[in-house]
Amino acid sequence: MRWSWSSGPREAASRHRARMAGMATELLYLRDAYLREFEAVVTAIDGDRVALDRTVFYPTGGGQPHDTGTLSGQPVTSVRKEGDVVWHTVDGQVPEVGGTVTGAVDWDRRHALMRTHTALHVLCGVIWNEWSTAVTGGNMEPLTARMDFEFDPLPEGFGPRIEELVNAELAADRPIEVAFLPRSTAVADEDLIRTKVNMIPESVTEIRVVDIVGLDKQADGGTHVRSTGEVGRIRVLKTESKGKGNKRIRIEVVDA
Ligand SMILES: [Zn+2]
Repeated sequence: MRWSWSSGPREAASRHRARMAGMATELLYLRDAYLREFEAVVTAIDGDRVALDRTVFYPTGGGQPHDTGTLSGQPVTSVRKEGDVVWHTVDGQVPEVGGTVTGAVDWDRRHALMRTHTALHVLCGVIWNEWSTAVTGGNMEPLTARMDFEFDPLPEGFGPRIEELVNAELAADRPIEVAFLPRSTAVADEDLIRTKVNMIPESVTEIRVVDIVGLDKQADGGTHVRSTGEVGRIRVLKTESKGKGNKRIRIEVVDA
């Protein structure tokens, strides 16, 4: 049954646009961080920003910077997630709502960020195992990163020691597994409790867990490599004090 006789094609098209504008973007990178190209439908336009029904572009968040790349050949310069919608800033011609686009991420940048993100989780695991000290913050760029920990003071010889311990875990080539757990299962997991999984809002019913098997398990929305061997090696660039109970470590990721 037609639900309205009075609506012409133009009204139907505008209703279609209005419905698509609020549509959540499916985050393809959560299940497969190795996807580089994809097809998607444009759900909304806001100036030079394009919303899609699905994407492999990682939006800035969780300490990991956004991907760059192209949408139907036009450069993507920024990617932001607002609510459930991922917005891609395009430098060039903006596609039309309802149209299909092909996207491709800059793989060199993305893979460098995956190696760096995994290196930081290895660092967290090693520091927890060795000193039972929790991370308080961090940030990364492709192949460089900093992390802050609750040390006071820093242990003697910390820089060289951490480099040795992290590189041993990278050389051990531990597999990395991504799972989606019901909230009740995740909050009961002892390995996840130390990473404050219970701080995740109650409204989140499924929690994505990144498990560096045998070393570090975290609720995490970032992109990671398949095994620690793929990271390469790290070098500690600097350790510094950022005040009482807050010490910073800077690392770079290099080829093995
Ligand atoms: Zn992470």
